[in-house]
Amino acid sequence: MPCRRQFLKAVPLAMAGGFAVIAPLVGETAHAATLGEQDPQAQKLGYKADTASVDSKKYPKHTNTQTCANCQLYQGDKGSAAGGCVLFGDKEVTSGGWCSAWEQG
Ligand code: SF4
Repeated sequence: MPCRRQFLKAVPLAMAGGFAVIAPLVGETAHAATLGEQDPQAQKLGYKADTASVDSKKYPKHTNTQTCANCQLYQGDKGSAAGGCVLFGDKEVTSGGWCSAWEQG
C-alpha cells in the first residue's frame, strides 16, 4: 500500500503529465481576450481601439499616426490586426489602437 509520501510525490508528476497532454490542445483553441475600452486599466490609460477616436483635448500630444503597431510596448507580429501589449497582460490591443503610454517604437 503506498504511503502518503509516495502519493504526494506521484500527484505532481501525474499533473505535469496531464498538462503536457492538455497544453497543446488548449493552445490550439484558446484565443487571447481583446482589451475593451471599458476595462478599468484601459480607461486609466485612455485606451481606444481606434487611434482616430482619441479625445485630442484630453490628450493634446496624441496624433493619429501614433498607433499600437508602432509603439515600443506592442508585442503583436508586424502586420497583425491585434497583439499583446506589455501593459495589458494577456489581453490583446488592436494594432490601430492607442493609449497614453504610447512610446515611439
Ligand atoms: S502601450 Fe502602446 S501598444 Fe500598449 S495599448 Fe498603449 S499604445 Fe498600444
